[in-house]
Amino acid sequence: MKDDFSILVKRAVPLLYSIDTKKFPLAPITIPAETHHVNGPISQKLFAKAKTLIPGGVNSPVRAFRNVDGDPFFVRRGKGSRIEDVDGKSYIDYIGSWGPNILGHAPTIITSAIHQAAKDGVSYGIPNIYEVEMAQLITDWVPSVEKVRMVNSGTEATMSAIRLARGFTGRDKIVKFEGCYHGHVDSLLVAAGSGALTFGEPDSAGVPKSFANETITLPYNDLERLEEIFENHGHEIAAVIVESYPANAGLVFPRNGYLQAMRNLATNHGALVIFDEVMTGFRLAKGGVQELENFTPDLTAMGKVIGGGLPVGAFGGRADIMDQLAPDGPVYQAGTLSGNPLAMVAGLTQLKELNKHGAYQHLANLGDHFATGLRGVLSEKGIPHRVNQVGSMFCLYFLDEEIINVDTVSKQDFTIFKKLFWDLLEQGVYLAPSPYETGFISMAHTLDDLDDTLMRIEKAVSRW
Ligand SMILES: *Cc1c(COP(=O)(O)O)cnc(C)c1O
Repeated sequence: MKDDFSILVKRAVPLLYSIDTKKFPLAPITIPAETHHVNGPISQKLFAKAKTLIPGGVNSPVRAFRNVDGDPFFVRRGKGSRIEDVDGKSYIDYIGSWGPNILGHAPTIITSAIHQAAKDGVSYGIPNIYEVEMAQLITDWVPSVEKVRMVNSGTEATMSAIRLARGFTGRDKIVKFEGCYHGHVDSLLVAAGSGALTFGEPDSAGVPKSFANETITLPYNDLERLEEIFENHGHEIAAVIVESYPANAGLVFPRNGYLQAMRNLATNHGALVIFDEVMTGFRLAKGGVQELENFTPDLTAMGKVIGGGLPVGAFGGRADIMDQLAPDGPVYQAGTLSGNPLAMVAGLTQLKELNKHGAYQHLANLGDHFATGLRGVLSEKGIPHRVNQVGSMFCLYFLDEEIINVDTVSKQDFTIFKKLFWDLLEQGVYLAPSPYETGFISMAHTLDDLDDTLMRIEKAVSRW
């Protein structure tokens, strides 16, 4: 077993460290006639081994492919819009590391910046110049953010923003929305209480009921319920936390006036609004959804694109609130690797690149092209669907009704999604392995990539 595994690692892993895409162009995509996807032998063996060493074989649950009843493949490398698995099959990728890779995989501009910076050291735990440059860029691009602190993940950003909101207001209760994901923060892993219960129930083992008691979970886009909660509990609420555009359970947009009404309710009751732009920040516009919706939150959580593929998060907002953080204020928050020079350099390089050549317009054009094409293909085949899309983010629903909140996703027949997922994987297109996830297009995707994908989708649905 051990020998078997070392041979496997020898075959698959060393290539990771010696990728030269000129010498090793990614394998061309071929469309096989058969559609029963079976992972290659190296992926299969690696996953079997991984399961003996890592819970579920993965370091984040969605990667285990449970929502599509299968096993994951192992990636060997990525370049541009493509990834290649350890068995040599390549795919057009619509996940982009779940959002961060907005320039595509391994953009030379970022890998060489990391390389260059690393020569001077990979971590110091002492203030460095890149942190100041990053803070300047964020506060320039996102006007509601007057001061910002860097952390290492989106989870840390929302967790810290909530602690800060509680410290600032002297209140304990948090309002969140069903279907909004803010990372695996204890007090946010809370589901709506059943029936008439106002306070939530733990949504994970290990979350104390007393934590869940401090979290009020409401349906998204339901203004009446929000007004009612503020009427009855307004004086106890520290903050409302909301995904700027909910995109972790389908892709949902706020109804007209909903965000502004939320803003007014919070202000009138002395509560803060924490806008979670971990996914949308720097992806949809320089100033995120708050720029698109002309919305002013008190605090903003950021992550994903801001790190250029390295582990980064950030939270920031009004200076008077941010000044409550240690060492100036009483709210403790810290991080050994926070403001890490490599992560700052990778993020800064990515953000500066996005500031060039009308990048956001280009991404929006690609997104529009793909969504229009997708609607066309599915309409032609008479398949009920909705495609929600904004800029480079899209989500396909296999039902035709208004998308109001997470309930709409749950109503779908998942077998249709699974069929499409496996057929496309076989054909060399990698969509997120769950109907709840949003897809991402990157600057490295070409119109040909998108058209190829549409052609493969058409081919898949024609077989149904
Ligand atoms: C991904 C995500 C998070 C969590 O970020 P991690 O870096 O995975 O901890 C939080 N909020 C939103 C909206 C996200 O999409």
